[in-house]
Amino acid sequence: MHLNKVSLEARHISLSYGSTEVLKDVNIRIEPGEFFALLGPSGSGKSTLLRLIAGFNQHQRGELLIDGKDITGTPPHLRNVGMVFQNYALWPHMTVWDNVAFGLVERKEPKESLRRKVAAALELVGLQDYAQRRPSQLSGGQQQRVALARTVVIEPKLLLLDEPLSNLDKNLRVQMREELKNLQRTLGLTTIFVTHDQEEAMTTADRMAVLDKGVLQQVGTAAALFDFPANRFVASFVGTAN
Ligand code: ADP
Ligand code: MG
Repeated sequence: MHLNKVSLEARHISLSYGSTEVLKDVNIRIEPGEFFALLGPSGSGKSTLLRLIAGFNQHQRGELLIDGKDITGTPPHLRNVGMVFQNYALWPHMTVWDNVAFGLVERKEPKESLRRKVAAALELVGLQDYAQRRPSQLSGGQQQRVALARTVVIEPKLLLLDEPLSNLDKNLRVQMREELKNLQRTLGLTTIFVTHDQEEAMTTADRMAVLDKGVLQQVGTAAALFDFPANRFVASFVGTAN
């Protein structure tokens, strides 16, 4: 796989639904190849920010830059961003192979390189022996691996993960976050991992941002947030298991 490492910058991003301000003057710079966690309670605006980066949500103010280039007006299909959701969103009637191949088929990828890329993506997540199964014949963890394979197979510039482990039970979640971390290290892909679980963020991310009510409270390493929280919210959210 040929993956470029890109930086991502959000400058003064604000977004409202009607009169409700959901994101308020958000500023972040994510470095090339960084595993960045976006941490915050339910309703804080995490998914909204992720969808905005993918191009599914339009913001009212501010700019979004990939490698310094303004992508604010670029439609989703031209952003080359890969997104993985909590509920996997696999096609139930298709085999694992066809699920993973889907994005490449849409792009009219030549047959030989399609075969090579799908095989490589399945191997990357350890599912090479499951290619002919259907999603219903897989465990939750395996389904999420298919979703990851399907996303990285298109060689995205950015990997966006929206609470990808929330549907899994606790033990599997711990195992999967290790896998996620290894996958990200292997690919070196700039990654934003949205979670409401502070432990998940702290054990995976190079750096993280804490969001509350649409306002970024602090950005930094796990150690920095834990040792020097910027305010009470960060102190209680990062310091307490939930
Ligand atoms: P999180 O992912 O952190 O749980 P969301 O980004 O989903 O938070 O939501 C942030 C806020 O925006 C919530 O108050 C939610 O109700 C509101 N919201 C999200 N999507 C919409 C929408 N399409 N229309 C109106 N309000 C929305
Ligand atoms: Mg969400």
